Amino acid sequence: MVIVMTAGASLKSISGVIKKINELGLKPHVSKGKERTIIGVIGRLTVEPEYFEGLPEVEKVILILSPFKLASREIKQENTVIRINGKGEVGGNHITIMAGPCAVESQEQILETALALKELGVKIIRGGAYKPRTSPYAFQGLEDKGLEYLEEVKRVTGLAVVTEVLSVEDVEKVSRVADILQVGARNMQNYPLLKALGKTDRPVLLKRGMMSTLEELLMSAEYILSNGNPRVILCERGIRTFEKYTRNTFDISAIPMLKKLSHLPVIADPSHGTGVRDLIIPVSKAALVAGADGLIVEVHPDPLSALSDGFQSLDLKDFARMMEELKSVSSILGRKL
Ligand code: PEP
Ligand code: MN
Repeated sequence: MVIVMTAGASLKSISGVIKKINELGLKPHVSKGKERTIIGVIGRLTVEPEYFEGLPEVEKVILILSPFKLASREIKQENTVIRINGKGEVGGNHITIMAGPCAVESQEQILETALALKELGVKIIRGGAYKPRTSPYAFQGLEDKGLEYLEEVKRVTGLAVVTEVLSVEDVEKVSRVADILQVGARNMQNYPLLKALGKTDRPVLLKRGMMSTLEELLMSAEYILSNGNPRVILCERGIRTFEKYTRNTFDISAIPMLKKLSHLPVIADPSHGTGVRDLIIPVSKAALVAGADGLIVEVHPDPLSALSDGFQSLDLKDFARMMEELKSVSSILGRKL
């Protein structure tokens, strides 16, 4: 349920509503808009919605029917725009490009990539220090050393960093370096992790699980939002189907559907979404046309020698071409790259 206060409602009336919500053992979630304040009520209602309608300066009470509440468009009509530590924003008019290798492999590799990406106008570099690999025998990431290299990249280049956090124990450590904390597809339903991320002040890039519905993705976002962190970026990264020419089937319809259902920014991962280097550029274009607010793309200076996901990574030359091609797509869409 959402309580919409009248335009310019007084602090006294807002506090009065919050007090009633708390008295009923429910949780208020206040968002202050330019004109009005709306108060989400989280928890099982034991009174009729009319109970709140009689309170001073309450304009109306809206019941939210979808199972996700704080993530829904019903609670917030305007798009959420998430600012990234002075490195631009996600969800506004700008299309946000996050690019970099699947994994941090060495100091030279990540620094060389960062400098080249910066030249091409990228403001956010990706790179996993802790890698969730299907095989326990595959490269698991440089772990703490990888984080150190990312910290150095930030210091030298001024780029913002998005990197994956695998477990609750690592949240604090990874937050010290990451400007955006990535939750991987395999962890989308790791509820203790989502709850812990709800208590941080870092934006969270939440990837869709490879076998998850959009409702499940939004319910996972709800865990982060309801635990106090409003800065969630949703990411379509492909799902499992019977198709074998691609690693995953990129669900293009997920983008406009998520934008319809939720006010949260939505980005696309054409690397994991296809698993095929040659498909990255066309699928990126399609994602932007479908309404994506940005992309997260795997780029490696030498994809053939990459320790993970080289087959779905662009080299720097192809990435430069992609940025050029995306400029024309963005201008047709009336958005800035
Ligand atoms: C990644 O971004 O490198 C990654 C492991 O992605 P996903 O969680 O989508 O598989
Ligand atoms: Mn990868």
